[in-house]
Amino acid sequence: MAETTLPPSLQEIASCVNGYDPKSLPVAQAQEFIARLVPRVHAFETLALRSALGRVLAHDLVSGIDVPAHDNSAMDGYALRGTDLAADAPCVLRVCGSGFAGQAETARAGAGECVRIMTGAVMPAGLDTVVPQEFVQVEGSSVRIPAGVVRPGDNRRHAGEDLAVGEVALAAGRVLRPADIGLLASLGQGEVAVLRRLRVAFFSTGDELRSIGEPLPAGCVYDSNRYTLWAMLQKLGVVELIDMGVVRDEPEALKAAFTSAARHADAVITSGGVSVGEADHTKQVMAELGDVLFWRIAMRPGRPMAIGRIASDPAGTGHHAVLFGLPGNPVAVMVTFYALVRDALLAMSGAIAPPMPLLRAASVEDIRKKPGRTEYQRGIVTRVAGSGEWQVRLTGSQGSGILRSMSEANGLVVLPHARGSIVAGELVDVLPFDGLI
Ligand code: AMP
Ligand code: MG
Repeated sequence: MAETTLPPSLQEIASCVNGYDPKSLPVAQAQEFIARLVPRVHAFETLALRSALGRVLAHDLVSGIDVPAHDNSAMDGYALRGTDLAADAPCVLRVCGSGFAGQAETARAGAGECVRIMTGAVMPAGLDTVVPQEFVQVEGSSVRIPAGVVRPGDNRRHAGEDLAVGEVALAAGRVLRPADIGLLASLGQGEVAVLRRLRVAFFSTGDELRSIGEPLPAGCVYDSNRYTLWAMLQKLGVVELIDMGVVRDEPEALKAAFTSAARHADAVITSGGVSVGEADHTKQVMAELGDVLFWRIAMRPGRPMAIGRIASDPAGTGHHAVLFGLPGNPVAVMVTFYALVRDALLAMSGAIAPPMPLLRAASVEDIRKKPGRTEYQRGIVTRVAGSGEWQVRLTGSQGSGILRSMSEANGLVVLPHARGSIVAGELVDVLPFDGLI
């Protein structure tokens, strides 16, 4: 029988988070709160292998076969019995046959015999060692193997050494990467069950915002947040995006946007309109349509944020989407996304992803920092020629409206909550922007 459990209320979640203070919430507590808030996608679909790159594996994938299926040769050379080798003398063996990759069986060899063998060919019964061809001298129908070029057992691949039958080859929650796609192919698997994509709706709020293609009257700015958000979400890979444009600062327009977003999406991300002094209607409509908290987070940039659930119908009986109401400043949007939203969306999409790797780099300059908030400064990390150590410098002005500081950076310098100012030469954590895969 299906069990129906009501999700915990925001108050219940808050009571589980040690030291919860919405007026000055440390980043770690905000992360914990959000981790407790977000539900996970369960529905799955079956996709052809090449459509599954970057998707989240729905179930543990148990290997149905051994890969490789047989002991086989790792080299082109001669297969022999390790016991025929002498420790300190050459050995001469008669070549009694050959084995090629793809053949079910290779020649049988008696005592004092070996088999010419190619990489990937099945090891002949009783033979356990392969001497690479470049080490031997061919003497008519025999080969001479100098002492010491090979040890018993060398250059033999064991059946199942890559994947053994019955073993979990890939665990549920895995975000499928290039090697995993190949690994699935090596199991002969043409299709794979993946979780459905998380649906994320996003829009910008603010009467000063104009969309690309519109004229820019005095006092207005082009909406850039929707584009940075789009790009960050694209990079995350596991989400389906619903771009809802710029929403005017009118209660009805906002209500319609939030309701529609909640109906069609699992998560709604907005930017702007959540600071304490906001004159517009965004906060009011958020509070009206859902169970929403307005935080001041002890971080810089970023501070204000709305978090909670938005109902898809005004009566509030139907589906709820998780709301991430981000601040409006362009750098604050990016930083709050990486610090608080990214991992939450991955968790919602069912992905079990390792934490983002941090580099330890020496700061080339003093950095002023107040204890009691986490700071995310934009930095350029480079390797010091010679020593190979990492060093980092900041990208000029760090104002939260200066998007160029983010564009020029190749990483975020993360200065933890309790830390004070940094003196040049001290080591700091840097979250690099780029990775190989
Ligand atoms: P708010 O959080 O709404 O008070 O906005 C803070 C600052 O960010 C203001 O200067 C806004 O004009 C700016 N801002 C808000 N939304 C956007 C956006 N979508 N694109 C660019 N700038 C924005
Ligand atoms: Mg605003």
